[in-house]
Amino acid sequence: MLHSSYIEISKSALQNNIDFIRSEIGPDVLLSSVVKGNAYGHGIEQFTPLAQACGINHFSVFSADEADRLLKSIPRPSTILIMGYLDNPELEWAIRHDMEFFVFELDRLQEASAMATKLGKRAKIHLELETGMYRTGFDKAALARAETLLASHRTELELQGICTHFAGAESMQNHERVLRQLQKYNRQVARLQQAGHLPRQRHTACSAAMISYPDTRMDMVRVGIMQYGLWPSPETYSRYISQQEEKKDPLQRLVNWKSRIMSLKSVPKGEYIGYGTSFQAPRDMVLAIVPVGYAWGYSRSLSNQGQVLVRGTRAAVVGTVNMNVMMVDVTDIPDVGKDDEVVLLGKQGEESITVASFGELSTQLNYELLTRLPLNIPRCVIE
Ligand SMILES: *Cc1c(COP(=O)(O)O)cnc(C)c1O
Repeated sequence: MLHSSYIEISKSALQNNIDFIRSEIGPDVLLSSVVKGNAYGHGIEQFTPLAQACGINHFSVFSADEADRLLKSIPRPSTILIMGYLDNPELEWAIRHDMEFFVFELDRLQEASAMATKLGKRAKIHLELETGMYRTGFDKAALARAETLLASHRTELELQGICTHFAGAESMQNHERVLRQLQKYNRQVARLQQAGHLPRQRHTACSAAMISYPDTRMDMVRVGIMQYGLWPSPETYSRYISQQEEKKDPLQRLVNWKSRIMSLKSVPKGEYIGYGTSFQAPRDMVLAIVPVGYAWGYSRSLSNQGQVLVRGTRAAVVGTVNMNVMMVDVTDIPDVGKDDEVVLLGKQGEESITVASFGELSTQLNYELLTRLPLNIPRCVIE
């Protein structure tokens, strides 16, 4: 093994999650696979061909560089939607490659129109509306001007979609706000349609909205976290499961993060382990040295806190997590040996280290933990 750890991506888990999402939204709603943040840490290059093989034909990314990587990774053409950063110089490239993109500023709308004219192509735009998130999106005044522009440039500008994004659909605390956003969106879309601006797709839903607010599904859903097998929040999960007869999580995690025991070490009772004095051996101990540390995203805050799996058994991280290694207590694991597999995240035998437990321990959200899995750990696909 060249690298000190690697991340497995499970194809069958992805197929399971996509099948579940499709069963929720039905056949008439398009599923866009959100692969921003390096496919939530799974790796755009590894994840997107897999998603295509599982039937995905529409991807959403944040920025042009992600779109470029995606384009180079997928064997078949698929629709690519850029939801965020696209600088005007990259517009030419985007339009040339039939990329679709969010537009939330007049400047971009003007540039898109000019570039489309220059290229003799149509720019496929998704008009993003400000409905109460206050991040990106046209407010009323700007929208009025955008409409004028759209009306006078119908040949260059193709209104592919009208969209918005909810400010926290994963928490009931935001219930009223989400409903107000939905109302505002629906009112504005109705008005735009009356004015002759007919989008092919109306879309608003992320994972949480899709599952908790079916009205938000419309023509397309933009699903990120749930395709990777995680719920947007514990609340979204309990709300969903309380309405089901079968109380089993329908989603499966895709990632297993694995390493191996690099070395074993006997420690006499009373000695301190690793840097400093944070852990003193309460008895004679056997430690496994695992070649993963905070340089690969195994958080230092998991010092004396984290757990890993060895031979199907939980083993505690002892002492501080170093830059490249950590020490694990394997005293009570019989037959433990050098080169034994160590699971940092995911399943081994009957046991599993969940992203949530890992996340809570290191006070990172599911989303954050996944996307912080570093690029320099190799990803490999398993069935
Ligand atoms: C990230 C994102 C999504 C997907 O969110 P999930 O909660 O991961 O499903 C959808 N739409 C937009 C605009 C986003 O930025």
